This record gives sequence, structure tokens and C-alpha cells, in this order.
Amino acid sequence: MDSNNVTGNWQVSVRRQNDCLVANGYMLVGDSAWMPKPLDAGGIGPAIVAATILGKNAVNAIEANDVSETGLWQYNIDFINDYGYKTAGLEIFRRLLQTLTNDQINYGMKHFLSKLDVEAISKGEHPDFGTVGKLGMMIRGALNKKLADGLRFTAQQNKTLTEHYYNFPKKPDGFDMWQKTLHHILDESYAKIEV
Ligand SMILES: Cc1cc2nc3c(=O)[nH]c(=O)nc-3n(C[C@H](O)[C@H](O)[C@H](O)COP(=O)(O)OP(=O)(O)OC[C@H]3O[C@@H](n4cnc5c(N)ncnc54)[C@H](O)[C@@H]3O)c2cc1C
Repeated sequence: MDSNNVTGNWQVSVRRQNDCLVANGYMLVGDSAWMPKPLDAGGIGPAIVAATILGKNAVNAIEANDVSETGLWQYNIDFINDYGYKTAGLEIFRRLLQTLTNDQINYGMKHFLSKLDVEAISKGEHPDFGTVGKLGMMIRGALNKKLADGLRFTAQQNKTLTEHYYNFPKKPDGFDMWQKTLHHILDESYAKIEV
């Protein structure tokens, strides 16, 4: 047993942030809101970004004498516009990566990943995988064709999800419908990827 290696570690979430970050007199931030990035579990950046946005919105709500869910709602929108728009798409991409063999990852890195995709990933954005479409019939092997389909699918779902997040409701009363559509897109994506 590796008894010296069992301390100083803990789980980090690798999913999108909570669908709603506020309630009456209550705001979520950082790990408590599942903010670490789904691809690499980096949670310090989003926690700091969100904390500054939260602080500004908390001050606005207190000055307006309204710390209800409605009074705090703008925090949801400001966080999504700054950072949260990309996390659901990255969650789908992470799920796809977990289905791949080492051989598929090696093939994908060699043939499918363009310089632009690498730049996007290093900036924390979802890659477009533009090269995959152009290769067409040149892709060798059934598993690699399946991988190409998967990459195209996640890039497409990322566009749909980003657009949906940018349409986050301006007020709480639009939230139920927005969340229903979000979960419909996610369920459809998870079913297609099948971890
Ligand atoms: C092993 C490990 C490695 C990581 N490596 C990286 C990395 O390399 N890069 C990166 O970006 N992220 C990394 N992360 C993730 C990152 O550490 C977290 O996402 C980040 O620290 C979250 O900040 P936070 O303020 O939301 O939560 P925390 O840093 O967890 O702060 C919450 C604080 O609240 C306190 N607290 C809890 N309950 C109460 C209570 N009831 N009353 C008062 N205080 C309370 C806790 O003691 C804690 O100090 C790593 C995480 C782990 C576990």
C-alpha cells in the first residue's frame, strides 16, 4: 500500500457550473458551484474570475436594496458571458476523450489537431477540428473514422451550447424553459457519446 501518497489530494469536479448560481440572499462561486474547467480541472482561474464578478453584483444588489434571486440574477449572466458559456461544450468534449483508446488519441493528435485547435485548447476554448472535415475519405480505419465523427459532433454541440448559454434568460421566470432545453441538448449528447 502507498501510505505516503494518500494525503493532500481530493476530488475536483469536471463538469459545467451549476445551472443557476443564485437564490434569495445566496450566491455560489468556485468549487461550490462546480466551476473548475471540465477538461483539466483547473479551478483557480474560474474561481477568481467569478469572485470578482460576484463581488460587483453583490455590491449592486445591496445598493439597490434587493438581494432577492431577481436582484442577484445578473451575476448568472455576467459569469456566463465571461467564462461560463464554454463549460458545457467542454464537458461533452471531456466525455468523448474518455471513450478513446491511446491509439485513437495518438492518431487524432497526429492527423486531426491543427495549430488553431492547439491554440484554442491552450486558451481554454473548445477546438473547431476544421481539419477533420477536410480529410474526408483519407481517414484510415473504422475506429479513426468513428473518432472523426465524434470530434465533429462535439464541435457542433459546442456551438449549439455556446449559443444557448448566450441566450440565458434575463430574468428568473425564463429559467425553467432554458434549463429544460439545456438538459435536452446534454442528454442527447451524452447518449451519442456513451461513456
Ligand atoms: C489536489 C488538487 C490539485 C489541484 N490543482 C490545481 C491546479 O493545478 N490548477 C488549478 O487551477 N486548480 C487546481 N485545483 C483546483 C483548485 O484548487 C480549486 O478549484 C480552487 O482552490 C477552488 O477555490 P474555492 O475558493 O472555490 O474553494 P477552496 O479553495 O476549497 O476554498 C474553500 C474554503 O472554504 C473553507 N470552508 C469550507 N466550509 C466552511 C465553513 N462551513 N465555514 C467556513 N469556511 C469553510 C475551506 O476550509 C476552504 O478554505 C486542484 C485541486 C486539488 C484538490
